[in-house]
Amino acid sequence: MTVRLRAHHLLCMLTYVGKGYSPAFVENYEVIAARLSAGEEIELVAGPDDICGPLTADSEAHCHGASVIARDRAAADAVARLIGSPLPLGARITPTLALIELLRANFATGEIRGACTGCEWSDLCDQVAGDAFASARVAPTR
Ligand code: SF4
Repeated sequence: MTVRLRAHHLLCMLTYVGKGYSPAFVENYEVIAARLSAGEEIELVAGPDDICGPLTADSEAHCHGASVIARDRAAADAVARLIGSPLPLGARITPTLALIELLRANFATGEIRGACTGCEWSDLCDQVAGDAFASARVAPTR
């Protein structure tokens, strides 16, 4: 199995602290956070992914929107630049402790946060990063 993630969720997974759009969304995200913490491989996908799942029954859900697709592009470019490797659709990424720490360090400085512009959760993500990600739910150990 892989965790199917759209590119901007490579950022969101860094700051997830158990908050989200609905109880079903959070319940699903908790399972995904545990899978990522256990080191399950990520597969980069286009559009709605495993995190979006509980929202996509609604055809009006923002997950389908052009602005979110642009957010994906910006996140993929930023993370690819950081890791020095392209991130095409279908890329496989292992969420190791070293990778999550690298991403969080560069998230905290703003280096890879261009994709966050205009996001309604930005203040929360600022707080999580400012607190050194202490309450973040994705927590690989190796
Ligand atoms: S600000 Fe929005 S896009 Fe950026 S990490 Fe937080 S939830 Fe994700």
